[in-house]
Amino acid sequence: MTLAERIEGLRARVHRACSEAGRDPRTVELLPVSKKQPLALIREAADLGFTRFGENYVQEGAAKADAAPDLAFVLLGPLQRNKAKAALQSFREIQSLDRPELAERLRRLAEELDVTCPVWIQVDLWDEATKLGGCAGADLPGLVEALGDDPRLPLQGLMAIPPPEDAAAFPQLAALRDRLQQDLGRPLRLSMGMSGDLEAAIAAGSDQIRIGTAFFGERPLIRGPVPR
Ligand SMILES: *Cc1c(COP(=O)(O)O)cnc(C)c1O
Repeated sequence: MTLAERIEGLRARVHRACSEAGRDPRTVELLPVSKKQPLALIREAADLGFTRFGENYVQEGAAKADAAPDLAFVLLGPLQRNKAKAALQSFREIQSLDRPELAERLRRLAEELDVTCPVWIQVDLWDEATKLGGCAGADLPGLVEALGDDPRLPLQGLMAIPPPEDAAAFPQLAALRDRLQQDLGRPLRLSMGMSGDLEAAIAAGSDQIRIGTAFFGERPLIRGPVPR
C-alpha cells in the first residue's frame, strides 16, 4: 500500500467516526507520528500536504528538525530535564509537560533562548506505573500554577495515552478538560486517540488524534532513536 492510499483509508475512518459522532471532520486535527520513520517518508507526507509531525525522542526529532527546517516537529515523548534546552531549540510544540520542575525549567530556558513554544500537559489518570509519563489528576493544579500564564509557553490543552481497552478513559479526559477550561476561563484542546482507538477518542470529543502506524505503516524495528 502506498502512503497516499494508507492516508486515504485513515481519512475514511476519521470521516466515519465523525459522522457517527455528529462532528465536522475539520475539527479533528490529524497529527502524523513519525517516530522511527525515515526522513524520506516524512518528505513524502509533506508532499501530500502535512507540515507537522509528532516525534518521541529528543535526539531523533532534533536531527529531523535540523534536516527539514521547513517542517514543524512536535515532542510527544517523555522529556528529561537535561534535554529541555535541546527540546526548546528543535521542537515547535511540546506535548509531554508533566511536572512542575519541568515547567519551571522550560520557562527559564524559553526566556534565555527568547523563544515561544506552545505546550500541552500530559495527564495520567490511571496511575499506570509506566514510563509513558503524565501528571496525576491530583497534581494538575500545581503544574498549571507552575506554568503560570507565561506567554512564552502558551497552554494548548491536555494530552494523554490512556490504557488500551478502557472505555471510560476518553470521556474521563474530556470531563477533566472541561473542568480545567472552566477554571482557567479559556478554551483548551484534547490530544487523544491513536491508530487503534481513534474512533472512541473522536466520539468523546478529541481535537487532535496522533497517528503513527495507521498513517506511515508499521514502524521499522529499530531500538532507540533512528540513526541518521
Ligand atoms: C507512538 C505514539 C503515537 C502513535 O501511535 P500509533 O499507535 O502508531 O498510532 C501517538 N502518541 C504517542 C505519544 C506515541 O508515542
